[in-house]
Amino acid sequence: MSGYVSFVLNRIAILTVLVAAMSTASLRASDHAEDADHHADHKVATSAPVSTNEHASSAHEAASDNAVSDKAAGPEEVWNQLMVGNARFVAGKPKQREYIHTRRELAKGQHPHTIVITCADSRVSPELVFDANLGELFVLRTAGNIADPIVLGSIEYAVEHCHSTAIVVLGHTKCGAVTAAASGGKMPSPNLEAIVNKIGPALAGIESRDNMDEFVRKGVETNVHWVVRDMLKNSDIIRSHFDEQKIGVFRAVYQLETGEVVQLK
Ligand SMILES: [Zn+2]
Repeated sequence: MSGYVSFVLNRIAILTVLVAAMSTASLRASDHAEDADHHADHKVATSAPVSTNEHASSAHEAASDNAVSDKAAGPEEVWNQLMVGNARFVAGKPKQREYIHTRRELAKGQHPHTIVITCADSRVSPELVFDANLGELFVLRTAGNIADPIVLGSIEYAVEHCHSTAIVVLGHTKCGAVTAAASGGKMPSPNLEAIVNKIGPALAGIESRDNMDEFVRKGVETNVHWVVRDMLKNSDIIRSHFDEQKIGVFRAVYQLETGEVVQLK
């Protein structure tokens, strides 16, 4: 290759890198503008769960939307970010996202900040509910959001290899699996029986069973607590990460009608 051709090719390569860098910078700038818009909306939606640290949430939200960000966030920061995303979902104003670049970057590896254990119910889609991007959530879904050994093994993988910092156990109102367990009837197959048998103990302590709606409402909550208990009791890996405060555990119930994620204490 002649010296001149080599010189021209080098110039083209440098220009290409510069153009790519500029377009990334402008994308990030527009993300920040969008964050400001959504933040304004979030303040209006007073019925939605509200972050306690708006500045931290906004900054983290921007960082997180850049799926390749190396910035490590603590559990509370991650939770606040999820709540801000949920407020956008509740308000019907999800972020506009550019998936092609994100998809390519994520092909190199995943670092989901949050593990979500939730129900297989088609109305409870975590990426939509938290208005999260590709690569942000590591999701396990079973009817009744139960934590059997396969679910626990999957969580252990994410905790150890993806270095996620938050686990969210998300039940939902009017859960069919909890309703089936609450009804106490015989299931038509051993597989279905396995689901209600897993949920059954979570309902044992509920006293008022006359009102089925109320029984199921309480059952959804006690089942979330039971799943957290199962998780920490039956997985040494999850428990040690939790004890060492490397990972935070959050309990919540998704409200089918409003779209809100309500945290349980
Ligand atoms: Zn369900």
